[in-house]
Amino acid sequence: LNSATALEAAIVGSSDMAQRRAIAKAITLLESTRADHRTQADALLTALLPHTGRSFRLGISGVPGVGKSTFIETLGLYLIEQGHRVAVLTIDPSSTVSGGSILGDKTRMERLSVHENAYIRPSPSSGTLGGVAEKTREAMLVCEAAGYDVVIVETVGVGQSETAVAGMTDMFVLMQLPNAGDDLQAIKKGVMEIADLVVINKADLDRDAATRAQAQITSALRLFGHHGNPAHAEMLKAAHAEPGSPEAEVRFWQPQVMQLSALLGTGVDAFWVSVMRFKQLQDANGRRATRREKQALSWMWERIDAGLKQAFRQHPAVRALLPDTIAQVAAGRLPASTAARHLLAAQAAQAIHSETP
Ligand code: GDP
Repeated sequence: LNSATALEAAIVGSSDMAQRRAIAKAITLLESTRADHRTQADALLTALLPHTGRSFRLGISGVPGVGKSTFIETLGLYLIEQGHRVAVLTIDPSSTVSGGSILGDKTRMERLSVHENAYIRPSPSSGTLGGVAEKTREAMLVCEAAGYDVVIVETVGVGQSETAVAGMTDMFVLMQLPNAGDDLQAIKKGVMEIADLVVINKADLDRDAATRAQAQITSALRLFGHHGNPAHAEMLKAAHAEPGSPEAEVRFWQPQVMQLSALLGTGVDAFWVSVMRFKQLQDANGRRATRREKQALSWMWERIDAGLKQAFRQHPAVRALLPDTIAQVAAGRLPASTAARHLLAAQAAQAIHSETP
């Protein structure tokens, strides 16, 4: 593998095949478990950081079969036609469990995947969800530094991976089937609450059902008030304000529900108009910057938590005590909280001991 500096130059400065190869190498470096690779990867990411952040980051989720890959292919080709460069990254929650893949299948997005202005990278193939999400987040930075100005991060409708994708994108889109309103599963699951936009796909199959679902989901979203954002109150105020006055200008996004057909391509332009409206509002009210700041910091803490936990489990004193402690807690002979305190104390004692030899 090249040095971080050579890779940085190839990612930022070159075009076409050389850049594509450099991106692939960089992502391989990020995904490597070797400590020296990690050091190089960290140097590379730090060097790339000033070139990142200029893309729009779009998260897309939905159950298998809802039409995600059909939609991303249609949308991607539409955006490329408008002069954009599109990167598609994936978080496949099944890979973190079984090493298998729901999303990784190579036949997906056939036309987009061979396009020179598209870069498609499948999900990292194993690890914890946090680990897989970390690699995807880092790959996103690499793609941004390479000038991809729309980054799409896709996942399957499974609670935690959706939260991970919403936590690394500027806008989170949930795809639903026309019968989605009938069973309110997604609404119960709480995913609706993090959706900025809900798309009802396959509207060509059953327009009535799609319209019904649209109405049901729209009223459900009103109920949630979109995680406490002031959009709804502001909409009401704007509706009664003097036209042209500052109050008449709506500065906050009200989550929307729209119908489309990814297969026929109908509604895709309206979808993008909506996304751009969202983006303009984020620019005007500063919310994209705040959202990214919060994301970066919660990301840092999430990784610190994961790192501390791993170090704790690998600590010799903890490892010595762990099997017996687990057995005792499982058998109901030791309270769980007491066990945790014992283990933490064992680690702390040894840490102090090793600092003062
Ligand atoms: P994914 O698992 O969410 O990526 O779903 P796919 O994109 O693979 O789509 C699953 C199936 O639904 C495929 O057979 C698609 O051709 C079909 N499909 C996707 N979008 C539409 C649509 O808008 N209308 C119709 N009728 N079929 C669609």
